[in-house]
Amino acid sequence: MTQRKKTKGQLIVLSGPSGVGKSTVIAELMAQRPLYFSVSYTTRQPRTGEQDGVNYNFVSRQEFERMIADNELLEYAEYVNNYYGTSLKVIREKLDSGMDVLLDIEVKGAAKVRQSCPDAIFIFMIPPSFEELSRRLHARNTDNEDVITGRLEKARQEYKEIPNYDYLVINDKVSNAVGEIESILTAAECRVMNRKNIVEGDYAL
Ligand code: 5GP
Repeated sequence: MTQRKKTKGQLIVLSGPSGVGKSTVIAELMAQRPLYFSVSYTTRQPRTGEQDGVNYNFVSRQEFERMIADNELLEYAEYVNNYYGTSLKVIREKLDSGMDVLLDIEVKGAAKVRQSCPDAIFIFMIPPSFEELSRRLHARNTDNEDVITGRLEKARQEYKEIPNYDYLVINDKVSNAVGEIESILTAAECRVMNRKNIVEGDYAL
């Protein structure tokens, strides 16, 4: 069978508390399958090792507010005193080119995407326990105690949104979390609505 190019890419939304290990899981996932990671815009300061244009597009508050005013964002939210947002243009281009696109965004932004893109796949990732989350945030050694307390409190609030997601992935071990997300994405690819090109093409009666 000739594998035809998909007409449109799948939008995947991944949320989960800060420190759960999303970046590591995403990097591993991208090594295993073609996926475009949406580089968000943020007003927060870069952490050590983070690169502009790779981890985030780091912009001023003024520039971010201009982007909001000019409707350049698919969604945005304020999180622990900083803005975070997704470029509408880039996402649209990638999806139209048949590429799957992954957004790593917090719950308020995800709820906005649910409204505008109901066909997206919504995945929430949690650590094996709250104690483990606290340990990981401290081990990261990038935020002061106040910021960590804020992030833990935020995590408690975010957990309440889990029922609004389609899938829950537990990141006890990176390979397990990656495996679960792989399964979710493979199942999504097999949905009849995503295989219309095959039904109407090589397998047409
Ligand atoms: P961090 O500062 O730890 O990199 O990210 C803080 C939170 O912001 C994470 O939960 C992350 O998923 C979320 N985030 C990153 N980019 C975006 C974005 O473009 N939009 C929204 N709504 N949240 C984002």
